[in-house]
Amino acid sequence: MNKNLLYRSIPKVDILLEEEAVQEMIEHYGRDSVMEAIREELGHLRAFIGTCEDEEKAKQQIALLVSRIELRAAKMHTPNMKMVINGTGTILHTNLGRAPISQEHMKRLMGLVSGYSNLEYNLEAGKRGERYSHFEELLCKITGAEAAMAVNNNAAAVMLILSSMAKGGEVIVSRGELVEIGGKFRIPDVMEQSGASLVEVGTTNKTHYADYEEAITEETKALLKVHTSNYRIVGFTDTVTIDDLVPLAKEHEIPIIEDLGSGVLIDLSKYGITYEPTVQNSIEKGADVVCFSGDKLLGGPQAGIIIGKKKYIDQMKKNQLTRALRIDKFTAAALELVLMEYLSEEKAIENIPVLRMITEPFEEVEKRARSFRRILKNAGIAAEIGLEECESQIGGGSLPLERIRSMAVTLKPEKISVAELEERMRHLPVPMIPRTANDTIYLDVRTVESRWFRMAADMLKELEVCEETCLIQQI
Ligand SMILES: *Cc1c(COP(=O)(O)O)cnc(C)c1O
Repeated sequence: MNKNLLYRSIPKVDILLEEEAVQEMIEHYGRDSVMEAIREELGHLRAFIGTCEDEEKAKQQIALLVSRIELRAAKMHTPNMKMVINGTGTILHTNLGRAPISQEHMKRLMGLVSGYSNLEYNLEAGKRGERYSHFEELLCKITGAEAAMAVNNNAAAVMLILSSMAKGGEVIVSRGELVEIGGKFRIPDVMEQSGASLVEVGTTNKTHYADYEEAITEETKALLKVHTSNYRIVGFTDTVTIDDLVPLAKEHEIPIIEDLGSGVLIDLSKYGITYEPTVQNSIEKGADVVCFSGDKLLGGPQAGIIIGKKKYIDQMKKNQLTRALRIDKFTAAALELVLMEYLSEEKAIENIPVLRMITEPFEEVEKRARSFRRILKNAGIAAEIGLEECESQIGGGSLPLERIRSMAVTLKPEKISVAELEERMRHLPVPMIPRTANDTIYLDVRTVESRWFRMAADMLKELEVCEETCLIQQI
């Protein structure tokens, strides 16, 4: 085989640039991107010919040059962050972005943030306003608190609270509540960062009233309760509830802070979920400051919501740290929209995706699973398609022991292995993330909205007929 001849048959850059397809690419992606794609692909092609011993293959690759340039330019302009279909059945999947925002809310958000807004402008007074004002009243109305604000996430909320209320002093925490949440958020470390020092009381499984009482000194700035969201200590255990702590705190004039983690605003036990104390509950019982995540059971954007007595919230609003931890306009706008749904419980359940998924009755999930299976079957995918009962999880460190009865569509591929299919599903234009077990792919329908069924079927169908793209992706 004559490699020189092959090299010479590669089109030159100026010839490539005259091709209509390349001209269209320039129109679409811009000249710099296309030039970069051309240079990279030419380099690859030369290297390929250098090592290739099969003349036919080399010619094939030369013929595919323009397609490859197109693919590379397209890839450069394809965002790395993609929407994915969550077939895992884990509703608050930390790796998959936790709480999804509803389409309706997104539409309204777009209108809000694509132009200017009154984020920090008081339209009544015609002067500077506060970014928390848009949702502070709502939060107070829903939770019964005096005042409210929000920062970037709940970890930031804990840090800000401690820095504002306990810097240079001591905070008493039960050893049973020295939580590590995912991503290296550890209560003792956060405490250190905030400038407060930790006074641990009790033991891992038991903490008594007297433990708190004995630990109180002149230096005590607060009592901190942390919701052990992602684990449970069971068996021989004892904890001191807020009810028990309130008289003690009152007597010593020390505030009680509670980090609730998930921050559920609705009693989900009505829907068959284990009872979790609500945010309203903590305020009612006498916690002075309560914080929780915006994107866990609340079902909103990433945020750390802080509510409680006005005098403490005011301190936090003035803290210099707040400037570094403050929420942006997307979050402020999204929080208001989501919180508004909580004015009526049935609207919250209906319109907040996380709550809708958690409370969807099994019979409904089953019905949707049947419809998904039918659509997949009609698409003629080379796999055995079935239905199997399964269990969804809440995830995100919320209610770790909870299992919700659900239904999955199962796929057993006929031509490729389960591992291969799972990998290909991850590489789809809208990647699908399933659960795999027993040599089967499971798509838990509880976390897959019906509007994705048809697209999922079309994509799975296309997985099998990718002769040319496979060839292009080879090197
Ligand atoms: C999840 C959680 C946090 C951290 O919240 P983020 O919003 O993820 O920062 C802090 N404390 C508790 C108890 C939690 O469950």
